[in-house]
Amino acid sequence: AQAPVNVTVTGAAGQIGYALLFRVASGQLLGPDTPVKLRLLEIPQAVKAAEGTAMELDDCAFPLLKGIDITDDANKAFDGTNIALLVGARPRGKGMERGDLLQANGGIFKPQGEAINAGAADDIRVLVVGNPANTNALIAQQHAPDVPADRFTAMTRLDHNRAIAQVAAKLQVPVTDIKKITIWGNHSATQYPDLFHAEVDGKIAAEQVDGEWLRETFIPTVAKRGAAIIEARGASSAASAASAAVDHVYTWVNGTPEGDWTSAAVVSDGSYGVPEGLISSFPVTSRGGRYEIVQGLEIDEFSRARIDASVAELAEERDTVRQLGLI
Ligand code: NDP
Repeated sequence: AQAPVNVTVTGAAGQIGYALLFRVASGQLLGPDTPVKLRLLEIPQAVKAAEGTAMELDDCAFPLLKGIDITDDANKAFDGTNIALLVGARPRGKGMERGDLLQANGGIFKPQGEAINAGAADDIRVLVVGNPANTNALIAQQHAPDVPADRFTAMTRLDHNRAIAQVAAKLQVPVTDIKKITIWGNHSATQYPDLFHAEVDGKIAAEQVDGEWLRETFIPTVAKRGAAIIEARGASSAASAASAAVDHVYTWVNGTPEGDWTSAAVVSDGSYGVPEGLISSFPVTSRGGRYEIVQGLEIDEFSRARIDASVAELAEERDTVRQLGLI
């Protein structure tokens, strides 16, 4: 039988954690043949709540779940881990400046990067969900110099899935007809969901919808979907974020289907003019367990301006965390 894969989830007692852990333990993260061991990392005051979630996980009697450890110590949480889902982050409080937010998150993601560097398994893969996800991922990556940089990613798969859902609803087609959606840039309101390379039943998506809908409805709907869900639900999206995290890791490990790609924030190699080293969202394929940036797409002026604006925001965030001495 296959040895269990160690999966660490931070912020395990939070909303996303609650939706995510049951999907991981049921086998949806790595497939129906792969047993998993869970490591739950929480801050001390949330450890008890994480223990409650662990009791519920036990009560599901998931055949693939081979153990659950709960800790408030990052070194224990990441020791020997294969997959790290970094969900816990410091939310933006009222009146908090972006610098304060980055500072608070630096205090979380720097020690986590160091703990990953010190103890994680050689095949460690890291997905950052906690916001500001791209820059939190950059902070962790910069403190893990012994881990290949391409093992650090941040999540834009939820934005990607939201874009698919919007186009499918607009054109009244099944979501499976929509391929090659791309989210470019930062997981923030500046992100650029691109329909100029996307295909609907083999035809370019941007040519199937009118330009005004694309500009005035589609782009802002995808970029502001999180706020719309808070407004409707009275709480931020959690199950959809967890579902996208499962998709991100599943695709990373198992590959993208032929003729399609997905979106993920990965360390830039300079492709498409995105400064090297920034963790920015790109169209990516996965082969042999590695995400690779899709090359050679033509970027028109409309897309160029939007990609540049989002990437500029990422560069600013990087400069801020540099000035704060966090990287
Ligand atoms: P959630 O589980 O709802 O969210 C966790 C993080 O995911 C937030 O940073 C949130 O960002 C982010 N996120 C990314 N994408 C989305 C999305 N589409 N929808 C919603 N959130 C998204 O937060 P909770 O407050 O319920 O739980 C956080 C938990 O993390 C708490 O239990 C806390 O104790 C823990 N924590 C653990 C740490 C650790 O393990 N060291 C460190 C810090 C916190 P946003 O705030 O922008 O919505």
